[in-house]
Amino acid sequence: AGTGKFFVGGNWKCNGSKDSIAKLVGDLNAAKLEDDVEVIVAPPFIYISQVKDSLTAPIQISAQNSWVGKGGAFTGEISAEQLKDIGCEWVILGHSERRHIIGESNEFTGKKAAYALEQNLKVIGCVGEKLEEREAGKTFDVCFEQLKAFADAVPSWDNIVIAYEPVWAIGTGKVATPQQAQEVHAAIRDWMAKNVTPEVAKKVRIIYGGSVNGANCAELAKQEDIDGFLVGGASLKGAEFATICNSVT
Ligand code: PEP
Repeated sequence: AGTGKFFVGGNWKCNGSKDSIAKLVGDLNAAKLEDDVEVIVAPPFIYISQVKDSLTAPIQISAQNSWVGKGGAFTGEISAEQLKDIGCEWVILGHSERRHIIGESNEFTGKKAAYALEQNLKVIGCVGEKLEEREAGKTFDVCFEQLKAFADAVPSWDNIVIAYEPVWAIGTGKVATPQQAQEVHAAIRDWMAKNVTPEVAKKVRIIYGGSVNGANCAELAKQEDIDGFLVGGASLKGAEFATICNSVT
C-alpha cells in the first residue's frame, strides 16, 4: 500500500432490495473495521437514505453516478445537489459499466467530475482498459487518455480517488495479478507526476478494482502503489467486505 489512508469502496451496482440491504447493513454494523481505513459503500440511489439511516459502522456513502450539471429537465437523472441534500459524500464516476454499456465518453465523465467536485461531492474516478486494448499493448494509452479527461476538467485533485479497474477483471473472477496491477498503478502515478504535479502524484490514492475478494486482497494490498480497492461482487457480503477493508493491517 502507498502513503495515503487505505481506501475501500463497495460498489453495490444495481443489486439489492429493502430486505437484502437491511441484512447487508446489519452485517456491516456487526463487523469490526480497522480505524486506519476509509470505507465507503455505494448503494443504488433509491436505497441511499435507508443505508444512511441504518448504518452505525464508520462508513461513508457514495452514489454510483450523478448528472453532469445542475438539475432540471433531465428525466431519470439525479443531480449532485440532490446527493448532497440526502447526505451522500462521494460519487463514483467513469465506471466501466457507464463508459461501455451506457456509452459515456471521457469528456462527459470529466465534466461530471468537475461538477460533482464543485458541489462538494468527493469523486472516485475510474479508469481501465478492455481486454482487446491490453492485448494490443494499449493499456497505458487508454488509462492516460481517461486520466487526461479528468485532469483537463477538474480544478483540483484534493477530493479525488483514482480507481484503476481493468475491464476484463470486473465481475469476471479474473483478478489482475499483484504485478499487473502494480505496474499500471505506478504508471498512473508517474503520469500524474508529469502531467499534474509531483505533490498530487505522491498524495493521490490509486485503488484497484476487478474481482477483488477476501482471498486475493492481502497480496494486492502489499503492492507499493495500491492504496485500496473498489469492490463489486464481494461488497455484497458484509463479512467478506470487512476482510477486504482490513486487508492492509
Ligand atoms: C466494480 O464494479 O467496480 C468491480 C470491481 O466489480 P467486481 O469486484 O465484481 O469485479
